[in-house]
Amino acid sequence: MITAERKPLEEIIECIRPYDRILLVGCNECVTVCAAGGRKEVGLLASALRMAFMKEGRTLEITELTLERQCDPEYVEELVTMIDAADAVLSMACGCGVQEVARRYKNKPVYPAVNTKFMGASVSQGVWAERCQGCGDCILGLTGGICPVARCSKRLLNGPCGGSTSGKCEISDDVECAWQLIWDRMKELGIQDRYEEVMVAKDWRTSRDGGPRKIVREDLA
Ligand code: SF4
Ligand code: SF4
Repeated sequence: MITAERKPLEEIIECIRPYDRILLVGCNECVTVCAAGGRKEVGLLASALRMAFMKEGRTLEITELTLERQCDPEYVEELVTMIDAADAVLSMACGCGVQEVARRYKNKPVYPAVNTKFMGASVSQGVWAERCQGCGDCILGLTGGICPVARCSKRLLNGPCGGSTSGKCEISDDVECAWQLIWDRMKELGIQDRYEEVMVAKDWRTSRDGGPRKIVREDLA
């Protein structure tokens, strides 16, 4: 899923300071799962903003709404009946959702209330870790199901580097060496011989290096 964290309250307040009426919009998908911008977080942020503005002697009118998916025009359309009553939109979706609202409602200012982080997985209660960088040409089949693009600090495709110590990456004792994980996994699967195979240079044009990407599915269009 896409992970995100709420921006500091002070930063959000500064964004919306010029406005009196805010449409605060959450998203029911990834940001709900990572507890950054779902219905609950919308309610908490709305209360915090009301109180902050009240302390300044101002009344902030906030309309709260959580869409099923904010990156989907079908659901973003639901804002049409309430958009005129707002001076600005504050979005708690990932960057995709914020941009979809901005694209649909061209004359309405839209501000992000969260920082979009990475594509990750839940590793324990309240902890998410990066697992994929959307390189566009997945090599997990060659690496035992562990991604060196997202999990090796140097993105090495033929690791490890010389900095791996006791299974940890040289950047921090908290970070597992991706190539140690790949080795352990291959050993577990009995395919250690694959570890010796040199991986050819990756074509990064399928990644962000090739510019903004698009998926076109003729069968669905
Ligand atoms: S190889 Fe590419 S697509 Fe596959 S998990 Fe890693 S970054 Fe994601
Ligand atoms: S120690 Fe491991 S994860 Fe860290 S940069 Fe080197 S190979 Fe990559």
